[in-house]
Amino acid sequence: MLLEFFRMLGLADRVTLHLNSIGDGKCRPAFRERLLTYLRERLSSLCEECRARVERNPLRVLDCKNPACQPVIERAPSILEALCGDCQSHFDQVRTALQALGIPYHLTPRMVRGLDYYVRTTFEVVTGELGAQNAVAGGGRYDGLVEALGGPSDSGIGFAIGMERVALLLAEAEPVASPLALLIPVGNAALQRLLPLAQTLRRQGLAVEVSYGSRKLRSELDRANRLKVPYAVILGDAELEKGQVQLREMARGTQRELALDLIPGELVRLEEARRRG
Ligand SMILES: [Zn+2]
Ligand SMILES: [Zn+2]
Repeated sequence: MLLEFFRMLGLADRVTLHLNSIGDGKCRPAFRERLLTYLRERLSSLCEECRARVERNPLRVLDCKNPACQPVIERAPSILEALCGDCQSHFDQVRTALQALGIPYHLTPRMVRGLDYYVRTTFEVVTGELGAQNAVAGGGRYDGLVEALGGPSDSGIGFAIGMERVALLLAEAEPVASPLALLIPVGNAALQRLLPLAQTLRRQGLAVEVSYGSRKLRSELDRANRLKVPYAVILGDAELEKGQVQLREMARGTQRELALDLIPGELVRLEEARRRG
């Protein structure tokens, strides 16, 4: 679902899935002890932050980004070699499913995520384009979360998406599709009529924008051109009284008057025509 989201944004080629399993309550404690022993012997080679967190949360050291820590991290024991039978066969199933879906991934045994309620699968969606801030989304199995919040023991999955980082990636991406129309009110009364119209249109699955400023019609039409919308719906005082709007076809610069009530049906028809190309 998460990768489908990135695909729909047109970012499929610019992000990679990183995958790991961090085991469960059965196998992780033993791994934690092994890792702890390994790290205690190399405390002096770790950065200050890692030295402070070795005893508290040694797994967290594994995803330290400080270059000083990398040689120690690279030779650290791998959690994937410490999984118990149940965790191993669960992870095999996850990988088989990804393969069936045609989703490529990198195995990253050092990726542990930070939080205690993670069990087994962890993942990140990573880009090579934003420097050190390379994870644009991350998550995993949250099997411990409901119980940690006071509920019954239950399984779960979840993820978080870094909206600012996704926005940075999108800034350079070709827009997947421009909105269908810009709704331009000329005056306040018109705005009050166009807001519910926009709501109606969006509920029908149409992407539309509304102009909120009280700028001149000319500059609103310039904005429509910048947005690359094929249509503008213009509502001024004269039209408002008649219950009419102007539907403008931006590319040709032609417009026709139409009853307000007919706009949703007409725009649905135009959107279908646009999708057919
Ligand atoms: Zn470190
Ligand atoms: Zn296990």
